[in-house]
Amino acid sequence: MDNNCIFCKIINGDIPSTKVYEDDTVLAFLDISQATPGHTLLVPKKHVENIYDYDQQLAMDVLTKIPMIARAIEKSNPKIKGLNIINNNGEVAYQSVFHSHIHFIPRFTRDEDDFGMRFKDNSNAYTSEKLEKIASSIRENLED
Ligand code: AMP
Ligand code: ZN
Repeated sequence: MDNNCIFCKIINGDIPSTKVYEDDTVLAFLDISQATPGHTLLVPKKHVENIYDYDQQLAMDVLTKIPMIARAIEKSNPKIKGLNIINNNGEVAYQSVFHSHIHFIPRFTRDEDDFGMRFKDNSNAYTSEKLEKIASSIRENLED
């Protein structure tokens, strides 16, 4: 636990989040910016800054969960036509929270405005109820 880390605070329950999946080693929750509807983050519960700090065990614990979460997101909304899975390392690569995380960004159309490595912040368009509705739909589709 890093006391100055926003994701450690979320993992610890000190800051609210809209949870999608949790086990002993990882947490997945909706990204507040919702670059597209369903935008989810997967984080190790252990505070590591970036991918370079993963040992084999942490890689097993985190990276093997990716397909399960991807499938749940894909099934959660029939309008989802694609999914970008992105991991930013370093400020120059648009990492802004220095607790390692994997982005899952559902894609609905090729024409989404300005979609690039720098994601749009749509947080103003979402209430906690709207976020919870999206998260519950993803949770309902989680299978091993
Ligand atoms: P990155 O820019 O790759 O480091 O991604 C960090 C992500 O964390 C951004 O997409 C933010 O929208 C997201 N984020 C920051 N604070 C929170 C929070 N309290 N709850 C959910 N997502 C957050
Ligand atoms: Zn942390």
